[in-house]
Amino acid sequence: MKTIEQITAELQGYDPQALSAAQVNEFLARLVEPVTEVESVPVFNSLGRVLSEDVVSPISVPPHDNSAMDGFAFDGGQLVRGEALKLKVKGTAMAGKAWAGDVGQGECLKIMTGAIMPAGLDTVVPLEFVKTDGDAIVIPPDVLQAGDNRRLLGEDLMAGRPALARGTTLGPAALGLVASLGLPELKVYRRLKVAYFSTGDEILSLGETPREGAVYDSNRYTVFGLLTRLGVEVLDMGVVRDEPEALEATFRQAAEQADAIITSGGVSMGEADHTKAMMKQLGDVVFWRIAMRPGRPMAVGRIAVHPHGKSSVLFGLPGNPVAVMVTFLAFVRPALQRMMGARAAPPVLLKARSAEALRKKPGRTEYQRGIVTTEADGSLKVRTTGNQGSGVLRSMVEANGLIVLHHGQGNVAPGDEVDVMMFDGVI
Ligand code: AMP
Ligand code: MG
Repeated sequence: MKTIEQITAELQGYDPQALSAAQVNEFLARLVEPVTEVESVPVFNSLGRVLSEDVVSPISVPPHDNSAMDGFAFDGGQLVRGEALKLKVKGTAMAGKAWAGDVGQGECLKIMTGAIMPAGLDTVVPLEFVKTDGDAIVIPPDVLQAGDNRRLLGEDLMAGRPALARGTTLGPAALGLVASLGLPELKVYRRLKVAYFSTGDEILSLGETPREGAVYDSNRYTVFGLLTRLGVEVLDMGVVRDEPEALEATFRQAAEQADAIITSGGVSMGEADHTKAMMKQLGDVVFWRIAMRPGRPMAVGRIAVHPHGKSSVLFGLPGNPVAVMVTFLAFVRPALQRMMGARAAPPVLLKARSAEALRKKPGRTEYQRGIVTTEADGSLKVRTTGNQGSGVLRSMVEANGLIVLHHGQGNVAPGDEVDVMMFDGVI
C-alpha cells in the first residue's frame, strides 16, 4: 500500500493549494483498493451488489428456436415474390409443449408465442396477416420474408459464454437475466461499510432546542441518502463536538468498524478547531484547496486505529451542505464504487443550451445547480436554480442535474451549449 506522500509524488503538477478536480480523482484512484471478501447471495438479495466473478451461461436462452408471434409456422423457402401462398393447417403448437408430427411443403402449423419451432420450419406469419379458407390459410403476397418472427436458440444468451462480467453492479435487468439462466445464487463482493459524522460546535442534532448561531445538521441526512442509494452499509456516528476527546473516540470507533469514513465540516483553511489536528494525529492525511466551486477545502487520507493495523479511507468533506453533496458526487462516489469492486463508467454528460448567461472563471471546475427541460423541438435547455450559494440546499432539491463548467471554460452566453450531469436516481 502506497503512502499518501508516495501517491502525491506520482501526480503531475501536484499543488495541495490548487488541485484540479481531475487530479483529485486521479489521487483517489491510486489511494483506494477494492474489498476482497466475497459471499454468495440469493438473486432476490443481490440488487445493487457487485459481482465478484463473471457469470457464465450454463444454458442457452432461449433453449430452442421458438415463435415470436401467435401465427402459423411454415418453411419460408416456399415464399415467392409477388405471389400469395396457400397452406393447409396441420395442427396447433402450444407454448411449453413440443409438437410431434411432420409439417411438409404446402402445410403449416398454428403456433403460439414461445412455442418450439418444429424442425424444418423457420418462418411465422402472424395471425392478423392471413385469410382463412376452410382448413387452410392464405398469406398475401410480400407481407414477410423467410426467417421472420422466429427467435433463435441462444439469441439472448449462449451456453458457455459470459453473460455478466465481474464488477457489474446488479440492477433489475441483471437480476432477471441471472434468473433466466436458472441460477439461484450469485457471488458478490461483501458490502462496503461506511461511517459518517458531522462536526462543529454550531451543529444541532434533531430534537435539540434551537439556539443563537446554531444550525440543524443536514449533512448527515444527505450523506445517509447518498450512501444508501449507492448500496453500502452505513454507520451513523452522529454530530461530534469540536473537542479532542470526542473526536478521537469517534474516529477510533469509525476506523475500527468501517472501510471508509466521511466527515463534514472543520477542514477549511481558517478553521481553528480540533478536527484537522485529530485527523493528522490518527492518520496519514492531506489537506487540500481544490480548484472547484462549490467545495474548495477537503481532507483525504487514511485513518488507522493501530499504527500498522487496518486503516479506513478518510473523506473529510467541507461543511457547507451543497459542497458536501457536490464533492460526494464528484469524488467520493467514484472512489467508493472502486472500493465496492465496481467497474463504474464515468457519469454521462448531456449537452443543453443555457437559458442564461453564466459567469465563470477559467482555472476551476464549477458545478451549478440546473433545471433541465426538453424543448418543443426535442433539444435540452437548462436554467440555474438561482442563488448558487454553497449553503443553499434548496437549490439541490429544485435542480434535476448539475451544470458542469469545466476547468478551462470561461463565461457562458445565453444559448451556448453546456454539459449537464443528470441526477438520475443518484440524488
Ligand atoms: P465549516 O467547513 O466547518 O467551516 O462549515 C462551513 C459552513 O457549513 C458553516 O456555515 C457551517 O455552519 C455549515 N455546516 C457545517 N456542518 C454542517 C452540517 N452538518 N449541517 C449543516 N450545515 C453545516
Ligand atoms: Mg466549522
